[in-house]
Amino acid sequence: MTGLDDSRATGQEKRVAWVVEEHCHLCRRCLAQRACRIRALMRVDEDEAPVVDVHRCRGCLLCAVACPYDAIVPT
Ligand code: SF4
Ligand code: SF4
Repeated sequence: MTGLDDSRATGQEKRVAWVVEEHCHLCRRCLAQRACRIRALMRVDEDEAPVVDVHRCRGCLLCAVACPYDAIVPT
């Protein structure tokens, strides 16, 4: 079942994490990414901020807690 299907089933919008690129310091080691155990936070290369796979994200916000620059917020 996808995130979209979950939303339809509950009638509520699914809460997911969102990376605010302007706040991201492009850390060499992204602590937020390391905090996401289901690997819903992906980073293609070090020159870009990580992105959230909204279909995988469970909205736990462990990544937001781990980011030292508050670059991740809930939607
Ligand atoms: S999301 Fe946070 S921890 Fe990850 S690179 Fe950006 S500022 Fe650093
Ligand atoms: S909210 Fe949770 S599941 Fe979603 S990207 Fe962050 S740590 Fe991963």
